[in-house]
Amino acid sequence: MHGTDDQGARLCPNCRSPLKAETFEGIELDICETCAGIWFDMGELRRLMGSEQHALIKTEDRVKPSGKPPMERSDAPRLCPCCRQPMEPYRYMHASFIWLDGCQRCSGIWADDGELQLIEEWLLNRSQRVAACPEDLAALDAYATEHQRLMDQKRAMVEVMKWWKMRVRM
Ligand SMILES: [Zn+2]
Ligand SMILES: [Zn+2]
Repeated sequence: MHGTDDQGARLCPNCRSPLKAETFEGIELDICETCAGIWFDMGELRRLMGSEQHALIKTEDRVKPSGKPPMERSDAPRLCPCCRQPMEPYRYMHASFIWLDGCQRCSGIWADDGELQLIEEWLLNRSQRVAACPEDLAALDAYATEHQRLMDQKRAMVEVMKWWKMRVRM
């Protein structure tokens, strides 16, 4: 589903570049050629995952950042490319350590560069858990905890930077 928004181009929630429609496994997604983020309209992420094995990693491999602007997150809230409303952090599958951005109004999902790969790896790890011995499970949990810590740290950094920039302006 695409083109329902007539108010102009869909913009990247991360770097504000216009998104480009591109077809992956028969699904039209909106990609940012600048920062390599990908926008999924409602249900498209699930459709892509169900399309074929490793579809997420294949998609990720096809969408590479142009490398021009820095990957720095702006201070402004991330806006949904369709509704132009601030999005909410969206925890993938509730149990993973992967935080995407979701729009509560249109149920679209934004994945930053690299996040699709994280999802695929997480799913793989989870399926391997079933067969894993207890030591492996513990290691995997430690890995997940560590990853979560890094993600939290990254988000905390953004908050600190915001505060710092505000102070500099004063
Ligand atoms: Zn972008
Ligand atoms: Zn939306």
